[in-house]
Amino acid sequence: MFNWLKRQLGIYQPSFVICFTSKDWREIHELLRQHSAKNQESGGLLLGQKKKTAPNKESIFITGFYSYKALGARASAVSLSIPPNKMDKFYQQCQKLESSLVGDIHTHPAGVEQSDTDRQHPMNPKSDSKHVALILPNFARGNPSTSRTGVYRLMGKKNRTFLRHTIPKHIRKYHLNISSHHQSAGIIT
Ligand SMILES: [Zn+2]
Repeated sequence: MFNWLKRQLGIYQPSFVICFTSKDWREIHELLRQHSAKNQESGGLLLGQKKKTAPNKESIFITGFYSYKALGARASAVSLSIPPNKMDKFYQQCQKLESSLVGDIHTHPAGVEQSDTDRQHPMNPKSDSKHVALILPNFARGNPSTSRTGVYRLMGKKNRTFLRHTIPKHIRKYHLNISSHHQSAGIIT
């Protein structure tokens, strides 16, 4: 059945759901709002655990967040680079939490369209990573909203182009669960 019809009938089943505790969701917004106070984009990496919850459905439980600032990231004209020692620390934390790098979240000045840089330089470019990328509009100002949050998922690479799943605005709320009750280490730094 077509997805639009399923939605009409109220039976749309998202293939993946990104689950945040409400505390993490709120604190990540607050932190990124502060980091974007001088109208600069800010963001960070998401640690998480993926679990199949139905044959065609995966839940991604966010178990921690590291800001780019804490990771000492430097932005160049084309991408973002994180010093190897900071990345080692990040992966150690992943191991401790039995988690992995599952996604990233960053702010944009206005809307949530991915920029060319976002599209061409995913934070975890391995084609099997199924990395999720979230974008918060207006430098994370205003009330956090699932429908205003840009949701993208890397779906591999064909020739030299990264393939991605872009979630349309009206169904973003099905892909973001912000009142999950799983264990999370929260904002780690
Ligand atoms: Zn961007």
